[in-house]
Amino acid sequence: MRTHPTEGSDVLVIGGGVIGLVTAWRAARRGLSTALADPEPGGGAARVAAGMLAAVTELHYGEETLLGLNLASARRYPSFAAELEEASGQDIGFRACGTLAVALDADDRAHLRELHELQRRSGLESEWLTGRECRRLEPMLAPGVRGGLRVDGDHQVDPRRLAAALLTACER
Ligand SMILES: Cc1cc2nc3c(=O)[nH]c(=O)nc-3n(C[C@H](O)[C@H](O)[C@H](O)COP(=O)(O)OP(=O)(O)OC[C@H]3O[C@@H](n4cnc5c(N)ncnc54)[C@H](O)[C@@H]3O)c2cc1C
Repeated sequence: MRTHPTEGSDVLVIGGGVIGLVTAWRAARRGLSTALADPEPGGGAARVAAGMLAAVTELHYGEETLLGLNLASARRYPSFAAELEEASGQDIGFRACGTLAVALDADDRAHLRELHELQRRSGLESEWLTGRECRRLEPMLAPGVRGGLRVDGDHQVDPRRLAAALLTACER
């Protein structure tokens, strides 16, 4: 794959953040001659993103269609991570560790309670924990934590490692 657009490529991807890099990698793997145009490939939002793979924790009202897509994507993530790590030889920091969203005050608590209700109505797995139960899981939490949501199916990746591995996979 070329990282400078040239004439004669089958595919030209403009923008080498994680989405553009995945697109270019996949296109190149399918045997297409692929060029990527970006003055700073592998940078973008991945430099500052948290890396939450949180289809359930980040559910919002009115996003049922997106939820289906997010859950399908989350199910495919472990095999995507394994394939990318093999192609790049780099660890992308994928951890199937579950997610804990905590409430620091009464407003947070009300918001998370509402989210929990929406998750249950949507048939999703999540568990309400007291502040004490949250701290038992994560002892570094502040003593004032008012409760939280445990979502065992939401995981994480290291976005900076992900972007670096994608860049390597693309170059290879
Ligand atoms: C603070 C923060 C936290 C986040 N946390 C999460 C999270 O926990 N979980 C999650 O799933 N998502 C999270 N996101 C969102 C996620 O990081 C982005 O959705 C994702 O990185 C977007 O990737 P992208 O490739 O679409 O775009 P970008 O990362 O924005 O990449 C765009 C690329 O295009 C290039 N470019 C721009 N203009 C041009 C041009 N004219 N010509 C050529 N190239 C150009 C740039 O150099 C850049 O490399 C977070 C985002 C932010 C900002």
